[in-house]
Amino acid sequence: MIMIMMLKNQILFFVIFLCFGIFYESVLRAEEISSDVAERFGKETRQHWNPEIPLNESAIKQSGIRRLESKYLTLYTDLNTSKQVDELPKLFDQLVPLLCNYFELNRQNYETFKVEGFLINDFEKFKSGGAVQQVPNLRNGYALRCRIWVRNPESEYYRRHLLLHEGVHAFMGYAFGFWGPPWYREGTAELLGTHRLENESLTLGYFPKSRNELLRWGRIDIVRDDMTKHHIRTINEIFKLESEDYDENTAYGWSWAFAVFCENHPRYKMAFRQTAWKLNGTPDEVAQHFLELLIKKVQNEQPELNKQEIINRLNNDWIDFVTNLDYDYDFERTRIDYNKNAQPISNSETQFQIQADKGWQSSGIRLERGKNYCFTASGRFQLAEKPKIWYSEPNGVTLRYYRGAPIGTLLATLIPDQEERFLATEGTLGIGFSTPQKIGLGKVWTAEVSGELFLRINDFPSELSDNNGNVTVKIIKTIP
Ligand SMILES: [Zn+2]
Repeated sequence: MIMIMMLKNQILFFVIFLCFGIFYESVLRAEEISSDVAERFGKETRQHWNPEIPLNESAIKQSGIRRLESKYLTLYTDLNTSKQVDELPKLFDQLVPLLCNYFELNRQNYETFKVEGFLINDFEKFKSGGAVQQVPNLRNGYALRCRIWVRNPESEYYRRHLLLHEGVHAFMGYAFGFWGPPWYREGTAELLGTHRLENESLTLGYFPKSRNELLRWGRIDIVRDDMTKHHIRTINEIFKLESEDYDENTAYGWSWAFAVFCENHPRYKMAFRQTAWKLNGTPDEVAQHFLELLIKKVQNEQPELNKQEIINRLNNDWIDFVTNLDYDYDFERTRIDYNKNAQPISNSETQFQIQADKGWQSSGIRLERGKNYCFTASGRFQLAEKPKIWYSEPNGVTLRYYRGAPIGTLLATLIPDQEERFLATEGTLGIGFSTPQKIGLGKVWTAEVSGELFLRINDFPSELSDNNGNVTVKIIKTIP
């Protein structure tokens, strides 16, 4: 009897184990979403799309609207013939293969992808022939399945930008069946719509070098104005933006900023791109999926990091990026390397070097809450090359200021340990990347929280490449 009971228990245990195994397998499979699965899902979804309202071509023509044709676009426009307008369909043909590369899709599957676009100067002219029946109120642009509408802006750059932006929407809807939540769909369309056209060759995801380069674009200024008037939007706040928020350009600015931040950071780039493969969920689910994908990718490279550490780094990197957002931002030199093994000063003092041509650098040490530290800094380094070489010492040069301090000033800040985060008050000097302490040639500092110590030379984020040299920092732990 006991034997039978034991056998029964074993069978039961085996069945539970088997069921759990199958369940676990299915969870794994759900996580291992690929571009193939995404494309199959997209194909299935668009088979259930409603047919488009047919266009009355002769009525459209009678209203003085021209029809321009290319492989991926039929463009209807009332704009006069010009090189810039007439070459838009050819530009659109460059967009599609670039999007296939970006989303890792098979280009052959998009041979039949075709968009009908309406580039509108006089909206009244488009009222006949069914051209704007689906979009009675058009602000800048609109996309519905494989139809897109663009109101002609004043700037030639911005005309292409809006066409590409709506084209990205149309492509994503066609490829994946979904666009995803506002932060993702608008972020991606803004990221890829921001472009460069040089010798008729299109580059997507371009980061502008100056304010005058992309006329009427202005995303960087929009974000900076909003930060001055309100505050830095956290990633979580961007995830929570709703469709109605996009009646204002501010939401587009923030969505672009988050997308461009991810795109230019090797830790976040692929997680952001591949989020497109699974957009069928609530906004919260898609945001969660992005974070899980990101954690998985980071842990593949750095298994020692736990989920919370990865999320904290993402948030800290974001704060640093957006605080310093500017034209010609140097993504590489401002990339922050953390040191998970940062240790308290073992003896009473320590010494290390900080490079002048980089953003925040980990000192490899942890300051401890309530302890006093005496900093001294020395060294001569280069801050500019042209028109002549500018040298500075760690107290900076008062000829130019950046964020309220002379360029060249040695700055320091603490990133609080996980268990100390609740002690960190927002806006406290010396805590977080947006509110650093000025160290200059020296300072005595009582650490308000325990955390990893970061230092950098104060300079514009676009002007690090012409810096050269180091600062030597010495820290003595003193008795409080
Ligand atoms: Zn859009």
